[in-house]
Amino acid sequence: MEHLAQTVRDAQRIVIKVGSNILLAENRLNLPFLYTLAEDIHELRKSGKSVLLVTSGSVATGMAKFGTTERPKDLPTKQAYAAVGQMSLMWEYERAFRVYGIPIAQVLLTRDDLESRKRYLNSQNTLLALFDLDVLPIVNENDTVVTDEIRFGDNDTLSAMVAGVVKADVNIILSDIDGFYTANPQLDPNAEFLPLITKIDSKVEAMAGLSTSSVGTGGMVTKISAARKCINAGIDMIITSGRTNHPISRLLQGARGTLFRASIDKVSARKRWILQTLKSHGSLIIDSGAEAALMRKEASLLPIGVKAISGEFERGECVQVHSQNGTLLAKGLVSYSSEEARQIYGRKSSEIETILGYVFHKEMIHKDNLVIMGAGEE
Ligand code: ADP
Repeated sequence: MEHLAQTVRDAQRIVIKVGSNILLAENRLNLPFLYTLAEDIHELRKSGKSVLLVTSGSVATGMAKFGTTERPKDLPTKQAYAAVGQMSLMWEYERAFRVYGIPIAQVLLTRDDLESRKRYLNSQNTLLALFDLDVLPIVNENDTVVTDEIRFGDNDTLSAMVAGVVKADVNIILSDIDGFYTANPQLDPNAEFLPLITKIDSKVEAMAGLSTSSVGTGGMVTKISAARKCINAGIDMIITSGRTNHPISRLLQGARGTLFRASIDKVSARKRWILQTLKSHGSLIIDSGAEAALMRKEASLLPIGVKAISGEFERGECVQVHSQNGTLLAKGLVSYSSEEARQIYGRKSSEIETILGYVFHKEMIHKDNLVIMGAGEE
């Protein structure tokens, strides 16, 4: 399927999610799959792409280690299995990726980490730093600490959220099925395969059913909600089969899958989110030089252009940007908290480190996080 191969070829940053169903075969880790996936990821990286892997399988690997096929029912035992299994899982990844000289990092996240702005930004900075170091981040839910309220619940949701965090171009879900159908094909012989979806409406939602396997969790319900998150963030999503070795090179060679295509680009999606969803927490008053730069639309707001700060805000929160005569010029996500901003405003970016002892960004608001107000917006 050329539209899928093209999406992967065009992507610069790729998230790949592997489910327990395909990672484990007959109660053991499916090593041939894991090694060929590692080789495929090596090929993607050789062509200059960054890759992040979202993996499930810690509980199932723990079960394999204890030689049981019965999924633990109570949370503490499940979490204990996850703690045991996560080690073996990472060890196997380490061995597989070492063959290709790829350094890996384990990143365990809870939903809390991505819901608090501060922790979201910290997770983002760490993941981006790992890309800079040419490391392959392997992300899983932090099963040993999560309680029901702070669970992602399924790694489909986790992969979509992480794709947003690292601003991926595509999120590839390797499933036990080769794509999305008009109904669950395991239950409905008339189900038809759908190669391309551009909008997730109630009709699409109604087609998605639950998983019929014992190890899979979310079925298509969580995948459709992950797809909605992705396309709203300007990220494409693919569901394709992970039931074969070399799943990614097969995709590039035309294997079947469903593409959920985003209709807006990532920067516009982000700006829409800033404008429509976020509450502003304070404001920055800027001088005329900074105002002129902002109106040219291509500039970030630097600390030196800020004349005053009002309100209290955390790093990463939304703030308003006003001119000195009080006109609302823009809204954006601020790189520093109000406490930090009060120390560095009016100063050169090169002085930030001396003043604060650290630098997050040289901009007070980066241009990708800044939305200039058009007529009629408030
Ligand atoms: P994994 O997360 O490992 O991909 P799941 O079992 O959670 O596995 O999800 C895939 C399963 O979802 C399919 O094997 C199928 O049983 C079920 N399913 C439900 N509705 C659909 C649908 N409309 N199209 C395809 N599969 C569906």
